[in-house]
Amino acid sequence: MSETLKVKEGVVVSLDYTLRLDDGEIIDSSAENEPLEYLHGYGQIIPGLEKALAGLTVGDSKKVVVPAAEAYGEVNMEAFEIVSRSMFPDDMELEEGLALTLRDAETNEPFDAAIAEVRENEVMLDFNHPLAGETLYFEVTIPAIRAASEEELAHGHAHGPDGHHH
Ligand code: ZN
Repeated sequence: MSETLKVKEGVVVSLDYTLRLDDGEIIDSSAENEPLEYLHGYGQIIPGLEKALAGLTVGDSKKVVVPAAEAYGEVNMEAFEIVSRSMFPDDMELEEGLALTLRDAETNEPFDAAIAEVRENEVMLDFNHPLAGETLYFEVTIPAIRAASEEELAHGHAHGPDGHHH
């Protein structure tokens, strides 16, 4: 088959990308790693980026601006919580922006939070995704596209070259 594969539902896309925020700071990039591989149309990447890649072919490059609503969502004002300073060890240095991994008291499942504000006896925690509210600026290139295997389609995600899960 010499048909040119385009990005569409059910193909595995290799993606080289650079991700910047509003201020131009690069926060993620595939440059130091292998390209990202994902199964198109299965929600493996953020919706705004997936939509913008449809129809591209191998060798194509594109700049894609994804508003927060189509990336990691707007900041949810209900996802903040004030807790007592005594929840943390006395000698722990607490500062705004500090990322924490906490454990659910009942299920012991880990979850991420960030410190939004430090007050005298209280700390405000932010449970939003770190990129919530951010417009994302991608520069992408597509080095390869291939048909997905039956197994990948059944699982709804791309598998690595050895057939194993990432
Ligand atoms: Zn799988």
